Amino acid sequence: MILVTGGAGFIGGNFVLDWLAQCDEPVINLDALTYAGNLDTLKSLANDPRHTFVRGDICDRELVGKLLAQHQPRAVINFAAESHVDRSIHGPGDFIQTNIVGTFNLLENVRTYWSGLEHEAKQAFRFLHVSTDEVYGTLGPNDAPFSETHRVEPNSPYSASKAASDHLVRAWHHTYGLPVITTNCSNNYGPYHFPEKLIPLVILNALAGKPLPIYGDGQQIRDWLYVKDHCSAIRRVLAAGRLGETYNVGGWNEKANLDVVHTICAILDELKPKQGTGNREPGAVHAESRVPDSDSQTSYAAQITYVTDRPGHDRRYAIDARKLEQELGWKPAETFETGIRKTVEWYLNNSDWVDNVTSGSYREWVAKQYHNT
Ligand code: NAD
Repeated sequence: MILVTGGAGFIGGNFVLDWLAQCDEPVINLDALTYAGNLDTLKSLANDPRHTFVRGDICDRELVGKLLAQHQPRAVINFAAESHVDRSIHGPGDFIQTNIVGTFNLLENVRTYWSGLEHEAKQAFRFLHVSTDEVYGTLGPNDAPFSETHRVEPNSPYSASKAASDHLVRAWHHTYGLPVITTNCSNNYGPYHFPEKLIPLVILNALAGKPLPIYGDGQQIRDWLYVKDHCSAIRRVLAAGRLGETYNVGGWNEKANLDVVHTICAILDELKPKQGTGNREPGAVHAESRVPDSDSQTSYAAQITYVTDRPGHDRRYAIDARKLEQELGWKPAETFETGIRKTVEWYLNNSDWVDNVTSGSYREWVAKQYHNT
């Protein structure tokens, strides 16, 4: 039995699906179902006795303690977080609460539970904390990629809150001997990604005939990893990672945001060519005005629209994932080219999932967020 937090979100949801496709070990899934949590992602597990979903907050000390005592998991994997940088700029409070206080609460509960385990179970137990490469700050164009020993220099409220949680996890190992491991991963993409993030947003706005917003000059560089590769890395680290260590997870796929958007447009041009005027899809996700059609605008790239850059926008992230490869033999299965094609195809084939998540409070937030763009 493992306890997963945030397992109704993008990466946690993919992880739970992937875990149960790979093995029969049951999962307790604790998720508060914020705007980013979506049970539709887990629909295929509705009648699966190996999956137990519990709606609840990682900050709820009593609930977390009860779940640990009741289910006696051999590992806790912490995905639960507020994860969107733009939201952290507009309202950092939730990020402090969930990412820092929530992690602290998990650690304290796990410490109590772990201290009471029998010797063998105690030796086998793991707390795996899922974090981000954004804790390392930003790189110049010629800097070496982030290694695990890079200084921690977070620049946004999101990355600062994640860095704080990473420090807590580290301290609980050094102070109390808690068997923890942290992973710091680059930008994920793939199925079930909430459409406020760049890749799903671009796919869905393109199909809806809406602007494809590019921050600043679009030359911000990110390393991209297909989400299923992140899941396999976490499984590997859980199985064989050294206690108290951090492992960087990355895809060796540095891309400028503008190039990512052009790649998506090219795949859409091929898979779903525009029919001159009138290319319109249901499931419109954003409140921007539509881009006027013209017969000459036959590529989705014609919808690219530059918008004011995000304050404090980091210029470049790049991950050195050699430690994970050399110590644990992990490598990503997908290149960016294969992964992005699978992702575009997934969004084209899963409009029901998209329609369900793009409703209610999400729409209100997006309307407020993008009304000027
Ligand atoms: P997400 O926003 O899609 O999902 C987060 C999930 O956590 C949601 O289901 C939400 O309901 C749940 N949650 C939020 N607050 C909670 C609380 N207080 N108690 C219980 N559940 C709560 O995020 P994601 O993209 O899946 O990211 C998962 C983890 O991976 C995060 O810790 C994030 O920092 C990290 N990460 C993400 C990326 C990425 O590219 N998305 C890259 C590296 C690391």
